[in-house]
Amino acid sequence: AVWLLVRGDPAQAVLAATAVVIVACPCALGLATPVALMVGTGRAAANGILIRSGEVLERCGRIDMVIFDKTGTLTTGRMRVHEVIAVDGDRAGLLRLAAAVERASEHPVGAALVQAARERELAVPPAVDFSARAGMGVSARVEGQEVLVGRPELVSQSGIDIPAAVHVALARFGAEGWTGVVVAAGGRVLGVAAVGDTVRPEAAAALTEMRELGIEVAMLTGDAAGPAAAVAGRLGIDRSRVLSGLLPGEKAAEVARLGGAGGRCVAMVGDGVNDAPSLAAADLGVAIGGGSDAAVDSAGITLLSADLRGVPAALRVARATHAVIVQNLGWAFGYNTVAIPLAASGLLDPVAAGAAMGFSSVAVVANSLRLLRVDRSRGMRRRARLSGAARRRALLVAWVAPALLLGSAVGAAEVLSPAGGQPLLTRAVTPTVASAAIPGGGRLASYLDPATAGWNQLHLTFFDAGGAELAVAAISVVAEDEAGRRLPLPTRRFGDGHFVADAELTAGAWHLRVDATTAGARHLSLRTRHDVAVRDRNQNPSAPGRNGP
Ligand code: ADP
Ligand code: MG
Repeated sequence: AVWLLVRGDPAQAVLAATAVVIVACPCALGLATPVALMVGTGRAAANGILIRSGEVLERCGRIDMVIFDKTGTLTTGRMRVHEVIAVDGDRAGLLRLAAAVERASEHPVGAALVQAARERELAVPPAVDFSARAGMGVSARVEGQEVLVGRPELVSQSGIDIPAAVHVALARFGAEGWTGVVVAAGGRVLGVAAVGDTVRPEAAAALTEMRELGIEVAMLTGDAAGPAAAVAGRLGIDRSRVLSGLLPGEKAAEVARLGGAGGRCVAMVGDGVNDAPSLAAADLGVAIGGGSDAAVDSAGITLLSADLRGVPAALRVARATHAVIVQNLGWAFGYNTVAIPLAASGLLDPVAAGAAMGFSSVAVVANSLRLLRVDRSRGMRRRARLSGAARRRALLVAWVAPALLLGSAVGAAEVLSPAGGQPLLTRAVTPTVASAAIPGGGRLASYLDPATAGWNQLHLTFFDAGGAELAVAAISVVAEDEAGRRLPLPTRRFGDGHFVADAELTAGAWHLRVDATTAGARHLSLRTRHDVAVRDRNQNPSAPGRNGP
């Protein structure tokens, strides 16, 4: 635009600058990310996956490892008591005291013991001074004695000896995949209960889907090694990726270690009972439905239904959204890369610039809407499964392709447009003006529009010495080119002294011979000259003579 100005074409410079301002409007750029995130989170919500924010969805697209909590997450969390071993044979007494303490607990193990006491119709006494040690167990005062229920460590750390028979039972339960819960009262171990739940029916399918996405799966649990190994074995989780016997703080530290230090982007999936800290420690926390409120608070994603397949579904939507964002940026940038230089050099009409700008925004929105079909689109599924490097390559193509496409579309439009590549801009400097003096005062003004080869419109206006329109009774016009070819131009009247003629002219100089009879019956014979440009946008519009004397 500056170059056009320096060259002495202020009108063209202004138009070029206008076109630049219009095409450079960053609408598409501004829409590229938020629209994709909006459609992506909307799509996820329709599947019962609540994504806290667009930022979470973006982070989600980078996840390459998913860590699961065991109890209540990979398993149903509906625990049952399978066996009770009492040191002195009083199983009912053991269950009665255990249930009394656990009534105040929200842990699945507690629910199992309370349920067992209810099924056996035991009268459960009240408890006072309840306290829970996260990931260890619970304690309270029942009928005047201190009762402990939980991991063997909880009991031994209180200085109570665990009898050999209970150790044997614990070992057997572990081998069978049960969780052994030790009950002690009044400084004496009463016995041990075997509790357990089952693996969620859809867990295996969810893990398979996740492995197909190239995501590694790990399991952390506060439970003992036996039950942890049983669940891992059933789901095919690699033994080196299973850690058991962790306290909640240790779980969180382990999540942070696998993520931050391991250089990976990890998601932690939990139900929130004793794992809210690890949900918060992960790059992405996923709380599963039916879990505790603490989980929902510390999670970026909440699965409304407790269906674990929501986890790979969320990751797939996130990856697809990420790809669409990259594509959108490609459209927005690519379009600007092509259009701004065109506009700056005066080759893009402001109207076309406006249309292209609208189109780029529509393209970005339409591309984002593809996310609505993410589950049905085979291409998107395939891309989500690509490994890191292949995915980056695919994204690069997605980035470059729109720019190339836009570039060729603009090029094709320039060549194929009906004006033969002639932009409106060249017309903007027309009409060209020439004039001839009337002997004795006054002049004839002659306008030729657009003064390029092809169809032109000629305006002839007579003025008197005072500058007022001079009435003319009759007129005849003949155009003559350099080769002497004569072309009569029939005129139509436009005003008292104003006539219009259509002229099909070739490029080159044209002389107009105008013979007129004024209203005062004076005969005038006048000549003007116009230079007709070839239909080439590169023709210098300010060529000498073009604009007449
Ligand atoms: P997970 O990681 O499998 O969800 P938690 O960290 O919640 O396990 O608990 C770890 C272990 O602590 C349980 O397996 C259980 O042995 C013991 N525990 C936790 N809470 C209780 C409770 N309320 N009553 C008895 N034992 C409990
Ligand atoms: Mg749990």
